Amino acid sequence: MTATLIKGTEIREKILEEITAEVAEIKAKHGVVPGLVTILIGENPASMSYVTLKIQTAHRVGFHEIQDSQPVDIPEEALLALIDKYNRDDSINGILVQLPLPDHIDEKKVLNAVDPDKDVDGFHPVNVGRLMIGGDEAKFLPCTPAGIQEMIIRAGVETKGAEVVVVGRSNIVGKPIANMMLQKGKGANSTVTVVHTGTKNMDEHCKRADILIVAAGVPGLVKPEWIKPGACVIDVGVNRVGEKPSKKDPSKMVAILKGDVDFDAAKEIAGSITPVPGGVGPMTITMLMKNTLKSLKCKLGIE
Ligand code: NAP
Repeated sequence: MTATLIKGTEIREKILEEITAEVAEIKAKHGVVPGLVTILIGENPASMSYVTLKIQTAHRVGFHEIQDSQPVDIPEEALLALIDKYNRDDSINGILVQLPLPDHIDEKKVLNAVDPDKDVDGFHPVNVGRLMIGGDEAKFLPCTPAGIQEMIIRAGVETKGAEVVVVGRSNIVGKPIANMMLQKGKGANSTVTVVHTGTKNMDEHCKRADILIVAAGVPGLVKPEWIKPGACVIDVGVNRVGEKPSKKDPSKMVAILKGDVDFDAAKEIAGSITPVPGGVGPMTITMLMKNTLKSLKCKLGIE
């Protein structure tokens, strides 16, 4: 069997087109567009490139976007005051503080300072609680898990009654996606198991999965014999396993990225599978845009 590829790059394009159309419609009817601010502290190259991509995407879909770059030695108080300024700014619907933060800043304090109704990353405890309650209560789902669920829905995979096994229990991927898949609703209503380093016989759990979601950060952790024939495999892992010359400019080296699943062997067993790169990765920023649009729609009372 050769699995159907669930391509995040293609799904992203569709969703961004949908968002662009909705933004234009809202602008015509209500005279406003969603506003997103990204706050970047310091000059960490990876953070700078993530923020640039977020701002470029926001611009592409027609948002009002601000990139607020601050020096690495910004005092915590000043950062909290900046967040407060954007909390009170009517033109801003989403506030994103790029992580990681410098050591002298308390990350928890900063994330908790963002107005939960502008917390488009979905990391504020209020939104974590809303997600747990589910249904209409859930407001901003964290972006990577939201992207995973969207991919499963758009790939037409049946989730109701499905055995879902999640490998990993981080606060940004494993725990939220497990909670989302057990809710009673679209793209969920599944029976969920979460496995981690304390789990005995991890392979036995994985073998039961109709939908296997892997977010461990260990290249090739999931072996092909752990996959149930026909299962949907979502590989969240992004692991740098070496370098190779760039296709565009062979004088430059680029990272070789691998997922947590042995892709070449797994695609012969699974029914559908996400590649790495080009799978879950492109969905995260896309869902950030969706959350920012949702924030404005909630404010306008049209969500
Ligand atoms: P994390 O915070 O390091 O959590 C990893 C989880 O996997 C932990 O719960 C850990 O278990 C579990 N785990 C690690 N090794 C294991 C093993 N050998 N057996 C069973 N469980 C194991 O990582 P994360 O932030 O969730 O990210 C996971 C992966 O997804 C990384 O490769 C990351 O780069 C990628 N990622 C991609 C995106 C994206 O594409 N947009 C977004 C976020 C993350 P314990 O709790 O027991 O330690």
